[in-house]
Amino acid sequence: MAPQITSIQSFFQPEVPSAQKRQKPAACHQPSDTGDGFTSSEIEAALHPSLHKWQPRTLYNDTDIRDLVAGPGCVALMGRIVNFHHIATPSKMPKAAKGCLKLTVKDDTGTLAVKLWYAKVDYNLHLGLLVSIWTPHVSNAESKSLTVQDTSLVTSIFPERDNSCYFMVQEQSDEGIMCKTPLGYRDGKQLDGLMTLKSFTQGGHELTDAKILVCVKSIGGRKKCENRHAPTREDERCGLINFVVVTKKDKEAEKVDVNIFDDTADAKLTLWGPLCSSPACWKTSYTILLITRPGLYDDGRPQLSLTNNTHVDVDPCMTDAYWLREHAQRLTKREHVNQPFPEGVFDVEEAAESELRIVFTLADIDQFVRAAPAERYVGYLSLTVIELNIYLLYQRNMLLCTECCGVPIFANAVTTKCKQCEKELILRINPRLVGLLIDETGGITSGKLIWSDEAWEQFLGRNAEELANSSLTLLKYLENRLLFLKLAVMFGWSEDVGKLCILRVTIA
Ligand SMILES: [Zn+2]
Repeated sequence: MAPQITSIQSFFQPEVPSAQKRQKPAACHQPSDTGDGFTSSEIEAALHPSLHKWQPRTLYNDTDIRDLVAGPGCVALMGRIVNFHHIATPSKMPKAAKGCLKLTVKDDTGTLAVKLWYAKVDYNLHLGLLVSIWTPHVSNAESKSLTVQDTSLVTSIFPERDNSCYFMVQEQSDEGIMCKTPLGYRDGKQLDGLMTLKSFTQGGHELTDAKILVCVKSIGGRKKCENRHAPTREDERCGLINFVVVTKKDKEAEKVDVNIFDDTADAKLTLWGPLCSSPACWKTSYTILLITRPGLYDDGRPQLSLTNNTHVDVDPCMTDAYWLREHAQRLTKREHVNQPFPEGVFDVEEAAESELRIVFTLADIDQFVRAAPAERYVGYLSLTVIELNIYLLYQRNMLLCTECCGVPIFANAVTTKCKQCEKELILRINPRLVGLLIDETGGITSGKLIWSDEAWEQFLGRNAEELANSSLTLLKYLENRLLFLKLAVMFGWSEDVGKLCILRVTIA
């Protein structure tokens, strides 16, 4: 991201204290081996200066956006970024602005367009960010594109050059409550224009003020785009709508695809340019987006994007959003490819030492769970292995698995890197290794079971790492040896987990 600028000292190569060299901050600046006497944090500060500390010289009135009036007057306001894009204004003049970020800022009463000019400061913005703005002047929006129902005023600020205005990101003090109420929302009432994702893609997008409420399902990696111009389309109401692609510092266009869903449909939301950094703050199956006036184009599958008129409320405070988040959480519980073993829920030691050993059948468990689902219990089952997939999963490179960024990850290895967030992941044995277990009353498939690491080791005679490193011959032998074996299984059931947990296994 940062250009490689070395200072004059670098040509003389003085010794750099090694302690200083090790203290590299996690910055996008490429670490270089040429010591130049400056610590990397000093270089970082010079390349990406943050905004100077500011003391207002006069009184600024704290104002709700709804109460703003066009004209001069010192006002201070707070709001969240619901959309932004970048306008490059290349200029050779040393004091000139390098560009402008055009933000739409929303509080609980209205929205305001903010032109934030910059020279050296790298404003790290993302959707949903809480910001404070101090400005001496607000004007009527000049262009048609800004005059969307609720954004009719604009303020233009250049805090690096103009001491009468200031811009501050409130990341530390953000408690996630302020400015989170959608415009026009009243408790218990359906929001005007709100529709399901399905109705939106099937014609609802024609509505001037269409809104959808969706949950983030998965987040793709950031991609550089060969084609610098994203799709544009004619729109009867507003003339040409540009899908925002101008990127900061005239770099290649970047995009991120985010899969979104509600209880009626799935769709892809594409974010371009500076908006690409926003999904990094989102959590799959948790983050809810209220998207007002999304752009829609059809590429075989409905694809959404943000136009200049779109507003995105991240995790809005409204009943429908809470419902959708709960719905999403219920789905992940069922769909997680390898649900982690619930540590600390069952007292395995105590159960193992207990003299009272109740042997259940699968039919008993079914009956008990229906009768008293809230009860937590530990017992024994006598099960026969009917289907094993060791060889099959090995061939497909799926012996172990986990999930990250909403994407299932498989490998014949214990560790791997997430392609989305680049986090190092530890994989656990794929529960599909055991296809079917039965007793005289019924059968249970792998999808309904969570194995503990201990149980896997007792069953396979090796731990996850040893399994991953096993030769094909050994795996084939293992499959033949374990198939049709009878197992004494110590299991646990708890409503919070929602699946049968295999705590220990003894081969009978
Ligand atoms: Zn990840």
